[in-house]
Amino acid sequence: MMEDEYYYDVVVVGGGNAGLCAAQAALDLGASVAVLEKAPRDERGGNSALTGHMRFPYDSVDDLAVLMDDPNQDDLAVIHDRLPRRSKEDLWDEVMRTTAGKADKDLLTTHVNNAYPTIMWLRGKGHAWLPNVAATAGNTTQMAGRGYKLQERHYRNVERSGGQLHYETSMTEILVNSRGEVDGVRAIAPEGFRTIRAKAVILACGGFEANPEMRAKYLGAGWDTVKNRGVPYNTGDGINAALAVGAMPFGSFTSCHASPQDIERPAYTLPSSVPNGGVRTSRYAYPYSIMVNLEGTRFVDEASDVRGRTYAKMGWSVRAQTGGVAYQLFDAKARRFGLLEDYDRNNATGVTASSLDELAKKTGLDPEKVRATVTAYNAAIQPGKLDPNPFGLDGKRTNGLAIDKSNYSISIDEGPFEAYGVCCAITFTFGGLLVDAKTAQVQHTAGRAIPGLYTAGEMLGGLWHGNYPSGSGMMAGAVFGRIAGEHAARTAAANA
Ligand SMILES: Cc1cc2nc3c(=O)[nH]c(=O)nc-3n(C[C@H](O)[C@H](O)[C@H](O)COP(=O)(O)OP(=O)(O)OC[C@H]3O[C@@H](n4cnc5c(N)ncnc54)[C@H](O)[C@@H]3O)c2cc1C
Repeated sequence: MMEDEYYYDVVVVGGGNAGLCAAQAALDLGASVAVLEKAPRDERGGNSALTGHMRFPYDSVDDLAVLMDDPNQDDLAVIHDRLPRRSKEDLWDEVMRTTAGKADKDLLTTHVNNAYPTIMWLRGKGHAWLPNVAATAGNTTQMAGRGYKLQERHYRNVERSGGQLHYETSMTEILVNSRGEVDGVRAIAPEGFRTIRAKAVILACGGFEANPEMRAKYLGAGWDTVKNRGVPYNTGDGINAALAVGAMPFGSFTSCHASPQDIERPAYTLPSSVPNGGVRTSRYAYPYSIMVNLEGTRFVDEASDVRGRTYAKMGWSVRAQTGGVAYQLFDAKARRFGLLEDYDRNNATGVTASSLDELAKKTGLDPEKVRATVTAYNAAIQPGKLDPNPFGLDGKRTNGLAIDKSNYSISIDEGPFEAYGVCCAITFTFGGLLVDAKTAQVQHTAGRAIPGLYTAGEMLGGLWHGNYPSGSGMMAGAVFGRIAGEHAARTAAANA
């Protein structure tokens, strides 16, 4: 029996934010476009559906106000008074700071220069933003309806523009003709294999965070058993298929985004669990806590920077502890500052006790060790004003500890005391494919572009290393997805 064959100008593999931005950009230029999505219709959206925000530069309050549907006076006051400005230079600096200077400069130039114009492009397609000032916020704005609604709007737009959606269709192979040009993909659907011919292929099917074998291979021993914050579908299929046709791997394959998550979080997350926000398992009040391991000892500077610039590497610190777990300790002041509202809303796994000894016993920690750690910490706190602000450092630090805490050092001396259990869960992988930073075209190991092959989103390597500023994955996915879609459509038109 012959395999089903389909013909399009552009085929996009993966219906996350990067893939749908690519599809939309190609459709806008008149290309016929198919999107292949591994998940069933009810679980579409990818990791993108689980997100909250995008990080972009803006010069003024007006740049933010224009992104909001009917901003009220409170919203405007918030963005005017409480949100810091973020210039393009600021964004460049914080990416370089979080990646220890390893972000690829060409990619970052494209990212920084195109971020706000891409936000305005999305705004023109019906997306909107809200101010975000929660104590655990990683960013100054969040998408209206979060990632789930963003993805629903993307899908609606792509369908209205004539894009063809193939669900439960997993790309298994990239097809290359005798001239070395990519001319389609092979995919497996419930009915069997399909050949989808196209003049250009855009790979946007995520990293390998959901693949235990690849996690162990690239990230190292023990990463096979970590929990996955994201969807179970991103198993490195795109990276493997691209490597098989000679694509050049690029970026950090030995690091990834991994953050502190509720100790009881499930093994992965499906988009259908979050249409109204869902129960979120991130435990990001840690900069205002001290974190102790099962030995009752602190193991990391909980606040070397604001939470939005430390959380993506903080999972690594937690994973390195006995059992891969830790406890975040707070006293009564945390509630007065409103730092645990997110935990209450999302059923955080924790215990409360009137004394530290009782708290330690309830968590199974040694009371003597916990008492010693807390006493030493309290004694080391330096004078200065405490300001638990998610967007600025207060310099309220400790001095003289084996591991000092650099900011937000709130003494732990007033009951009731609270402890929240956390584990490490992977968010997404950083290693991917080498592209031309201006076109998102995938490069061959031989040092030339692969004709007809583009990539975007988690699959694009070279931007993030070891850490990253929150909200950057979605932004980069939109920036490079749009660029990939435009260039793929032009390639298709040139080969018509
Ligand atoms: C819980 C969580 C919260 C996050 N919050 C944020 C945030 O607030 N801001 C931010 O910037 N980033 C956030 N991230 C990271 C962000 O999700 C990613 O950087 C971004 O979504 C990547 O977009 P993408 O389109 O590359 O991947 P995805 O959105 O994951 O899309 C990839 C798609 O490809 C499909 N697919 C996989 N294999 C195949 C195949 N073989 N064939 C066809 N389809 C395939 C998948 O099913 C999926 O739908 C978060 C991630 C998680 C897990």
